[in-house]
Amino acid sequence: MSDAVNVEEVFGKNVFTIGKMKERLPRAVFKEVRRIMDEGGELPRAYADVVAKAMKDWAVENGATHYTHWFQPLTGITAEKHDSFVTHPDEDGKMLMEFCGKELIKGEPDASSFPSGGLRVTFEARGYTAWDITSPAFLKESATGNILCIPTAFCSYTGEALDKKTPLLRSMEAISEQGLRIVKLFGNTQATKVSPSVGAEQEYFLVDREKYLQRPDLIFAGRTLFGGPAPKGQEMEDHYFGVIRERIGAFMKDLNVDLWKLGVTAKTQHNEVAPAQHELAPIYETGNIAVDHNQLVMETMKKVAGRHGLTCLLHEKPFAGVNGSGKHDNWSLCTDNGVNLLDPGVTPSENIQFLLVLACIMKAVDTHADLLRQSASDVGNDHRLGANEAPPAIVSIFLGDQLEDVVKQLVTTGVAKKSKKGGKLLTGVSTLPDLDKDATDRNRTSPFAFTGNKFEFRMVGSADSIASPNTTLNAIIAEAFCEAADKLEKAKDFDLAVHDLIKEYMTEHQRIIFNGNGYSDEWVEEAAKRGLPNIKSMVEAVETLTTKKSIKMFEKFGIFTKAELESRAEILYETYAKSINIEALTMIDMASKQIIPSVISYTGVLADTVLAVKQAGASTKVQSDLLKKTTALLEEMQEALAKLEKDAAKAMTIADEKKRAFYYKDTVMIDMQALRDPADQLEMLVDKKMWPYPTYADMLFEV
Ligand code: ADP
Ligand code: MG
Repeated sequence: MSDAVNVEEVFGKNVFTIGKMKERLPRAVFKEVRRIMDEGGELPRAYADVVAKAMKDWAVENGATHYTHWFQPLTGITAEKHDSFVTHPDEDGKMLMEFCGKELIKGEPDASSFPSGGLRVTFEARGYTAWDITSPAFLKESATGNILCIPTAFCSYTGEALDKKTPLLRSMEAISEQGLRIVKLFGNTQATKVSPSVGAEQEYFLVDREKYLQRPDLIFAGRTLFGGPAPKGQEMEDHYFGVIRERIGAFMKDLNVDLWKLGVTAKTQHNEVAPAQHELAPIYETGNIAVDHNQLVMETMKKVAGRHGLTCLLHEKPFAGVNGSGKHDNWSLCTDNGVNLLDPGVTPSENIQFLLVLACIMKAVDTHADLLRQSASDVGNDHRLGANEAPPAIVSIFLGDQLEDVVKQLVTTGVAKKSKKGGKLLTGVSTLPDLDKDATDRNRTSPFAFTGNKFEFRMVGSADSIASPNTTLNAIIAEAFCEAADKLEKAKDFDLAVHDLIKEYMTEHQRIIFNGNGYSDEWVEEAAKRGLPNIKSMVEAVETLTTKKSIKMFEKFGIFTKAELESRAEILYETYAKSINIEALTMIDMASKQIIPSVISYTGVLADTVLAVKQAGASTKVQSDLLKKTTALLEEMQEALAKLEKDAAKAMTIADEKKRAFYYKDTVMIDMQALRDPADQLEMLVDKKMWPYPTYADMLFEV
């Protein structure tokens, strides 16, 4: 029998929660911390000293020896540099552990090696980390001991954001300010804040660690660069929601406990579509905490997998031919007095507010479809988006039958008199159908789907931080809210004005609504007719960051400056080029040092057999045919390898980041496929005992 877990005892054990602060801080200090959490501002130094001491005492009582400012540089993962609480021993040689407010509030890691996209030249290495008081500090249990982690933002000396958290926090301020203007128009004067709620469903693969260690491609690139399909894939649909195998179950149990300790509300777990693929979903929470927690989810998955002799693959496409992994970013907006702006509601007035919010979202998503697509792009996601298993690269909104019908009625007649459910409704400007959220049906192929009281942004990649998608969502919707509020606040007849505005936005942006099959070729054609962007790759998406439209929007709400956007574009090009370069070099290495030599050995065995069998006077037809086939493919491989080597070397000489990135996409990636094809065919021919790597069958079905 396995040990029982006491969730209540475990949950939040390693978090310096609001409850713990309340217990440990003097009343006045606690009140001020709480106020700043809600309203923003800076904690006075004297108070910060008190908080720091309480935090340190709690951490030390729980075995901590070090603290770190935990931040999210533009590498997409988190960074930490540990400082111990050790100070000068006193006269008697006794150690007094110390941690002051200054150390809590601000840090100065040597940041010269983090990507800054030209914002901070290397000799001006200073980057600062600043405490994000809204995200709780936590203890990370690790082989290095227990580390007190303080979530921080990371900026340059001159205040430019060098991380993913800073713009996210800025975007949350923007959506709060603009969202409040909207709810005030409808009489909600009590609300003081509008916050995005976010719940990110995380998909992942688990493979046996021993096998993983035999695959340089998994080690260096996180995905297989060679590998023919297993005899069985996902066609039997027997993995999705299937019984969880014991070894995986033990991993999941451990993972949950570790996450619960960190205050992550791990809620659901199940087997996903592809063999060896699984998913975890937490309960939604405030945007920036959800972003921090998703980073912890990814990190903890990797750590716990190791304990079970497994390796967790977060790459978007670890295996060709079976589904890849994504991350559904569930997003809604809530006021601090409990109203979900995406909840249709029951009264006409609630319904009008909902429809206005919906109209603004339609406008925002249509106007900035390119930016939204960019926010969900990363190197691995290029293998997914538009590849017939994940949403297409075209952004559209799915509303479901009932809502779509309401939009149609509003667009054509200006009023929505009835809902599709058939309920009889009052006519007139201030009445709209009662929307039933259960009436929204499911559409798995839509990149941005309304699911009852939230939108589900399904394009995001499994390995990516959810900071950018959420920053972009908050920003573009803040812009639409702002424009709507500008008009409505001035309106003489509010009811009429809001009605007209909903109609105007829905009419102008109805092209973004698509309820059909997003995987179909017809949709690609139809979307082109509608003029919707279809940005096929990450590198093509980068440009959207620095268009006039984008700069104007981000600057207006103080989320990114032009310089910050340009630096991010540069980093993305660099990241792409570096990643593909690693993949190319890994392939070259595997092909020349392992695959080709193995195939040569095999042809040797075949040739010897042919000779021996011939001597014995029997037919060598099978052996000779196999030898011919094998050598032909071997030649093809050798040629493809030479071309890849040449082009990969050339890529390194291209100075311009953008040109280099495109060269990797348009030339090197093609070469890589040309090398993979014959190799994968050879895998099917060569004696398994002589093949240097575990196969797809070994990795996907023998976990
Ligand atoms: P679905 O079946 O539509 O995927 P679930 O109820 O399973 O919906 O929720 C999926 C994710 O969406 C979970 O992480 C959940 O916490 C999150 N979620 C639910 N409601 C909201 C909301 N109002 N805002 C943001 N996320 C939400
Ligand atoms: Mg879902």
